[in-house]
Amino acid sequence: MSKNKGDKNIHKNQRYICIAMGAYNLQVTIDQDSGFCFGVVYAIDMAEEILAEDGYLYCLGDIVHNDEEVERLKAQGLRIIEHSQLKDLRNEKVLIRAHGEAPDTYRTALENNITLIDASCPVVLKLQNRIKTSFDNKEKILIFGKHGHAEVIGLQGQTNNEALVFQDIAELEDVELPHNITLYSQTTKSMDKFYNVKDQLISRGYDLKANDTICRQVSNRDKDLPKFATRFNKIVFVSGRKSSNGKVLFEVCRKHNPDTFFISSAAELDKTMFSPNDTIGIAGATSTPMWLMQQVKEALESF
Ligand code: SF4
Repeated sequence: MSKNKGDKNIHKNQRYICIAMGAYNLQVTIDQDSGFCFGVVYAIDMAEEILAEDGYLYCLGDIVHNDEEVERLKAQGLRIIEHSQLKDLRNEKVLIRAHGEAPDTYRTALENNITLIDASCPVVLKLQNRIKTSFDNKEKILIFGKHGHAEVIGLQGQTNNEALVFQDIAELEDVELPHNITLYSQTTKSMDKFYNVKDQLISRGYDLKANDTICRQVSNRDKDLPKFATRFNKIVFVSGRKSSNGKVLFEVCRKHNPDTFFISSAAELDKTMFSPNDTIGIAGATSTPMWLMQQVKEALESF
């Protein structure tokens, strides 16, 4: 699938865009580096192939942290299930999304004769392996990541849930740690925050093995977005509210352009946010489909 598969109406709508310029005459540009990362493209591609053949497919958790894209795939037959439901399922195909899974999930699938369609992102799989190796080497592992996030659960699972997960350095204040510690990061954390955590741990005197395992699909956007954000009067950032990298990248935009608005769909746009002749940049998370940003562009141009 191309980056924009699922954006089937774009070409059809281009003619519409040209004739639908609204009275506000907003000049709208979509950041061409925004939209699905290759890990998400891979997972959605796999899901769509099976949906086309079988008509339905189970997926463990939301395939992507974007409700609009999830709804689009549900309409094709995707059935989202929770881990508790996996235990009751037998003889079916189940997709593992890009976030990856803990070893428990693979065990349950084997017991229940479930065929796993494993769309774990290769970047996440590599990180899981590195954490497993550290665990086998008896290192004390810290994971800088969001509590309860699917990827983090999968990472912690590599350590028999013994790795210590924290999302804020303050959480380590009252924790007794050994002198030697190994630090990893969830792939979608902010680069600045990770290096800040690293510096603070070193300044506290720990012998720290710090592994910057932030995905370059996210950190490169960290670097490119500031330039994009400063080119326009206003930025409309489109993302699901559950997306971790959506929060990170929104903050990057807002830091460089205070007139940055967060929305999840075109329905959340409000004309009063804008002034006539504004230039507007649209950016999104690695889980934001291009078709959704295109819808937002069309809505803005109709104002
Ligand atoms: S952000 Fe990176 S690690 Fe996460 S799914 Fe995308 S490519 Fe994979």
